[in-house]
Amino acid sequence: MKYKRILLKLSGEALMGEKNYGIDSKRLEQYAQEIKRVKELGVELAIVIGGGNIFRGVQAENAGIDRVQGDYMGMLATLINAMALQSALEQVGMFTRLMSGIKVESVCEPFIRRRAIRHLEKGRIVIFGAGIGNPYFTTDSTAALRAIEIEADVVLKGTRVDGVYTADPEKDKTATKYSSLSFQEAYAKNLNIMDMTAFTLCQENNLPIIVFDMNKPGNLDKIVLGEDIGTLITSN
Ligand code: UDP
Repeated sequence: MKYKRILLKLSGEALMGEKNYGIDSKRLEQYAQEIKRVKELGVELAIVIGGGNIFRGVQAENAGIDRVQGDYMGMLATLINAMALQSALEQVGMFTRLMSGIKVESVCEPFIRRRAIRHLEKGRIVIFGAGIGNPYFTTDSTAALRAIEIEADVVLKGTRVDGVYTADPEKDKTATKYSSLSFQEAYAKNLNIMDMTAFTLCQENNLPIIVFDMNKPGNLDKIVLGEDIGTLITSN
């Protein structure tokens, strides 16, 4: 096994599947199966999930809602996804803990770093809901920060494209994929891998990122076993 402790970042939008809003139950089940498969390799696994399928803070301003209020609404959206994912994982027999960045004691425990690590050591899948708990951040930043805090070996950013390309492959047919990149190259070429806060956190703390296609069955465990899937971004 190449990685012993991983942090998987899933966007909220990925959960929509073919739908325009909300959660597609088929997609949710598919992800639960993929996560189960990788967990059964014996890896320690934490997950951060976004909320873009339900609500994003920037949307709020257009709707006349205060930005900070909107960000909290976005955080609650991630919590809804996290709860759905927790439930789906339990249905396939996984042991999980949901930890929230904001206090919602009736629903789940608050994020406490040492406790999160203890859960991981005991083989539980830890899901971090509600982002960092602060406005003006994203779940990409949450993924980077939590990964550093729990000393994960790598952040796996699951997307619907199979890596980082020279241009948007959905728009430009001549775009080619990078198999690896340095943080500096990615920055110089203005490649949009994560938002700058998240990206800088990873770079400054030497935390590698792998961008990969989460919708292709088996990709997640192949990465953990050391296959070159997706694009690896590292310090050198
Ligand atoms: N958010 C926040 N602080 C955080 C994490 C999230 O304010 O630490 C809010 C922010 O408004 C964001 C929304 O929650 O737009 C949903 O998260 P995100 O956009 O990262 O979800 P994704 O794009 O991954 O689906």
